[in-house]
Amino acid sequence: MKLFAVLLDLLFPPACAVCRGRLPDEEQFLCARCREKILPAEKCCIRCGYPLSGGFSCPRCRGYDYAFSGACAVFLYQGEVRKAIRRFKYGGRTGLARPFGELMAAQVKCRAWSDCDAVVPVPLHPERLRERGYDQALLLAQAVAKDLQLPVCSCLLRCENTASQTTLAAKARWENVRGVFCPAPGKPVPGRVLLIDDLLTTGATAHYAAEALLAGGAEAVYLAVLCRS
Ligand SMILES: [Zn+2]
Ligand SMILES: [Zn+2]
Repeated sequence: MKLFAVLLDLLFPPACAVCRGRLPDEEQFLCARCREKILPAEKCCIRCGYPLSGGFSCPRCRGYDYAFSGACAVFLYQGEVRKAIRRFKYGGRTGLARPFGELMAAQVKCRAWSDCDAVVPVPLHPERLRERGYDQALLLAQAVAKDLQLPVCSCLLRCENTASQTTLAAKARWENVRGVFCPAPGKPVPGRVLLIDDLLTTGATAHYAAEALLAGGAEAVYLAVLCRS
């Protein structure tokens, strides 16, 4: 078994999850340069996870009344990080869920609300799932849940297949996802929910997902994403 691991290592040397550069130690996930891209939790907005550049007023979430009570993100969605997320999301690199999920769990542990009852992924529409073959938010949720020793609860459904948010302007994004989430039949909603998604842009998707969870009986919803854009 050890020989097998050594051979595997020679064929596929441990690579940085973001830049794919060589890693000295597989357990680190990120090279030193990419590790510096992790957002410092104490310097990010507690409502939306965006890094604050001095002062306490966040330029990104001002004026929004989100249904989730707090959020955290690991990275900003740019440069090599953006490419890595796209490999994970559209390129079939599902193995990235483990390093990314553990980095998300580490950010959650820096928050006052890390004691949630269960992890809930923002659901993908079944049709989109068929096209892609896997659900990236579910994979992240499973990795986060494993690290935090919490159950995964898929108690939310996406009942309408909507256009991709990526091509839409901010206002259209809010219209696009309004009312698309509904509770999954027969799955009780946990009290304190840790909602998981890969990306937070306007917050519209997470807002309506959180709203559906609150309507389904959740006491509070907190959001952890891999990237804030
Ligand atoms: Zn790197
Ligand atoms: Zn904010």
